[in-house]
Amino acid sequence: MSVFQPEFTARTARVRVRFGIGASHAVADEVRALGCSRALILSTPQQVASAMRTAEDLGPLAAGIFSKAAMHTPTQITAEALAHVSEVRADCLVAVGGGSTTGLGKAIALRTDLPQVVIPTTYAGSEATAILGQTENGLKTTITDDRVQPEVIIYDPQLVAGLPVPMTVTSALNAIAHAVEALYARDRNPLSSMLAMEGIRAFARSLPQVVADPHDLAARGETLYGAWLCGTVLGQVGMALHHKLCHALGGSFNLPHAETHAVILSHAVAYTEPAVADLLAPVAQALGGATAGAALHAFAARMGAPMALRDLGMLEADLDRATEIATRNPYWNPRPVDPVPLRALLQRAWAGEPPVA
Ligand code: NAD
Repeated sequence: MSVFQPEFTARTARVRVRFGIGASHAVADEVRALGCSRALILSTPQQVASAMRTAEDLGPLAAGIFSKAAMHTPTQITAEALAHVSEVRADCLVAVGGGSTTGLGKAIALRTDLPQVVIPTTYAGSEATAILGQTENGLKTTITDDRVQPEVIIYDPQLVAGLPVPMTVTSALNAIAHAVEALYARDRNPLSSMLAMEGIRAFARSLPQVVADPHDLAARGETLYGAWLCGTVLGQVGMALHHKLCHALGGSFNLPHAETHAVILSHAVAYTEPAVADLLAPVAQALGGATAGAALHAFAARMGAPMALRDLGMLEADLDRATEIATRNPYWNPRPVDPVPLRALLQRAWAGEPPVA
């Protein structure tokens, strides 16, 4: 299928990507190439050991470690981190971790314009976007700003080799979700469509191998390659029903990020598919299945992903409110979002039933 479009506008970010087994040990070269010499390393409390290994790799270029990154980038943690930036006189940031750690680096960069090196340890893809989601007083807002776009990404398969298999699977489905919604994005362009298709194919090939052998570094490398492609398209085009639904569920019911993506994806795609069946054909082709929705559902089940919102702690009694929240601010989707079929979609996703168009 050709992805040619007779008219489009495309925008690509200026980012340097270094990819390869052991590439993270070259972080000092990347910091020097930025003209910097005092890197503040960021991590979550759970990944201090990774931050310390990065400090060893940085040697005298390491100015300190701030290890309080948290889900949804709370602004009070950003304020604490900013004080640390001043204290250690950091001239750049090195974030080692998943979307939460990358989010903290972006939040600091927004306020200081410090250059960022990101070493991802999940497949969330935040490192490849100029998007920042942050939380203040329990309210999550999202902004897009060139200052938050990381300057350098170092993808090292060794750093995802220890990602536990359940997180590997949900994080991969989170990445695939970016690519799937990019295929029918209103502002898609030929480049974003090519990247999205290749991103989905990369995960279709490598995720089963990683689930079978999580320490297979060649397969881990291909999953990271997929994450880069999927993150890059997230940074290029707008998302639709699937992402909005996940944000509503995550924001209002505190459901876990990647797991919610894993459960919702096949349902949101099945809902949207009748309007864009041709654009979604590559998904069924890559994963194997009659439709994109069915193929995604079967793939998620084969990979051992969570399949029901109720297993993530969602209460059936909250499904009406979830429908109301998700339809409160109408947003663009190839198939308009209607509360009645959306409520039925959420019921099926809650119970773990197969998706229906
Ligand atoms: P995360 O960063 O919240 O990580 C979850 C947990 O797993 C953390 O405790 C982390 O320390 C741990 N972890 C990460 N990598 C690990 C590894 N290799 N081994 C063991 N433990 C590891 O999870 P995430 O799914 O990567 O990120 C989710 C957040 O990122 C959400 O807040 C989401 O909104 C945001 N996000 C933002 C964008 C964007 O473009 N702005 C894109 C995707 C996700």
